Amino acid sequence: MSEPLRAAAAAVDDAAVLVDAACLRLAHAAGGGKGRVSGPALDDHQVLAYDLAHAASAVEAARVMLVYAEHGEYESRLARFFIADAVADLAAKITGREALWGVEAAELAAAQPFLEAHRSPAFIDEIADHLVRDSTGPAHLDDEFDLVRDTFHRFASDRIRPVAEHVHRANTDIPEDLISGLAELGGFGLSVPEEYGGFAVGGPHDYLGMVVATEELSWGSLGVGGSLITRPEILTRALVKGGTEEQKRRWLPRIATGELMVGVMVTEPDYGSDVASLTTGATAVDGGYRINGVKTWATLAGRANILMLLARTDPDRASGHRGLSLFVVDKDPAPGHAFAFTQPADTPGGGGKMEGRAIDTIGYRGMHSYEVAFDDWFVPAENLVGGPDGLGKGFYLQMEGFENGRLQTAARAVGLMQAAFDAGLAYAQDRQVFGKAVFDYQLSRAKLARMAALIQAGRQFSYDVAGQMGRGEGTLGASMVKAYVCRAAEWVTREAMQLHGGMGYAEEFAVSRYFVDARVLSIFEGADETLCLRVIAPRLAERALASTSSTR
Ligand SMILES: Cc1cc2nc3c(=O)[nH]c(=O)nc-3n(C[C@H](O)[C@H](O)[C@H](O)COP(=O)(O)OP(=O)(O)OC[C@H]3O[C@@H](n4cnc5c(N)ncnc54)[C@H](O)[C@@H]3O)c2cc1C
Repeated sequence: MSEPLRAAAAAVDDAAVLVDAACLRLAHAAGGGKGRVSGPALDDHQVLAYDLAHAASAVEAARVMLVYAEHGEYESRLARFFIADAVADLAAKITGREALWGVEAAELAAAQPFLEAHRSPAFIDEIADHLVRDSTGPAHLDDEFDLVRDTFHRFASDRIRPVAEHVHRANTDIPEDLISGLAELGGFGLSVPEEYGGFAVGGPHDYLGMVVATEELSWGSLGVGGSLITRPEILTRALVKGGTEEQKRRWLPRIATGELMVGVMVTEPDYGSDVASLTTGATAVDGGYRINGVKTWATLAGRANILMLLARTDPDRASGHRGLSLFVVDKDPAPGHAFAFTQPADTPGGGGKMEGRAIDTIGYRGMHSYEVAFDDWFVPAENLVGGPDGLGKGFYLQMEGFENGRLQTAARAVGLMQAAFDAGLAYAQDRQVFGKAVFDYQLSRAKLARMAALIQAGRQFSYDVAGQMGRGEGTLGASMVKAYVCRAAEWVTREAMQLHGGMGYAEEFAVSRYFVDARVLSIFEGADETLCLRVIAPRLAERALASTSSTR
């Protein structure tokens, strides 16, 4: 390891020590006994918990970048810049809150020379020298995944980009030939096991393939490309985990070929982050269940042929998440921004209604996200995921799907950031201000260099978590990478827009769409705060407790 990289590694270690110490402090403050953390107690320390979740995620990304750095000089520079910024950010988080964290920013003093060397404008400018030729740096995938990348990149370039602006500005449906083209490419079967007609063989490769494909499609467009394959992924994971054999054979092959488009229905008008409190009811009747209630934000619910619906089968609200079950609801695809269906009179009970209307959004257009009201809608018993054994297991199966969805959303963010970077760099080279190109100014170069470091860190972090998930270990990692990378996407798209000056605000420039699209990433698939406060921070705190008890 070179001397600068040794210094980077030491800075990461110092940062990790502080983060670990603060996690232990949080664990003691919010301890619920038996090595667990109490949710209500942790809520009294939300400001610390939130910052810690992001700081710990940055440290994880920094560790991954240390490995990436070994690939070459440009890689090393990107890594060192990223690490220096991450450590400086940690110091800023601690400063003025030493009592809260139980540590001092001064404990990072040994890293000071490293920070000075790697946050200096001169060092950052050396990175900028690479940008035109080397972009955000090589991904360092092996040949098999390079081929996946190239294939989906070409599709994004040839098929998605040409329609993305029109879909966004006219708020149209996604063209059917784009869906069928993506199906031909195998985009909907990436996580469907081979035995059910898909491409998944088990293990890290499946997750990595999904991440790479998602990134490239999202580079084409977040709404029209990468996000098209997220819903089938979520249902596939849930079915593989908890579906009966008959259900897997019934749905998975048709999901893999794109014959069945999927909508996911968890959120309700009164409950989004608080999934355990959902109220939409599934009442047992002869031969099946009757669904009553309202779901909201169900993306692609109009075009979808099947809806993955989380509903309460135990009417006792006190049962919380244990009272929820997962259903696959059949429906006809409906174009446009609204739909209404009435079940035929010969359906058991007869006359059930399902009515949906799209919610107008600032971005992420094409699939449309619907509010859908169910009035006595009948679902046959065989559509309860897992059969009778699936009763009460819906929450866990949904979360299985969401875990994958979080990693995939990080990949969506990386693809979108790369698109914004490409646009920002091209415009900055082209546009002259005060007699020279925007790109030739120190500040522009520093912005683009920082974007490159963040994008490559997000990419490598998501690859790393894909590996963890393939080994069955990625629950915490999926939330960390999602929370961290999606926030980074807001800054990257903002700066790419800013480099465009006034034209960044014009709808005819794609960067304005990237900016509004990026904003949704921290909201769905687990809102940033919910992930940090309800998933990441409690797990970090419990891990800190476990490590002290194991070292005793
Ligand atoms: C474009 C779009 C597409 C979507 N697609 C789908 C879909 O296909 N299917 C689906 O089921 N849902 C979908 N969603 C819904 C999305 O998952 C929810 O919006 C998200 O889970 C947040 O729920 P909420 O909107 O009810 O916010 P709330 O839960 O009301 O949260 C409001 C705010 O409070 C914060 N907050 C929550 N809990 C805490 C806490 N304990 N402490 C402090 N702050 C907290 C949140 O982070 C947020 O900032 C979509 C949303 C959007 C915008």
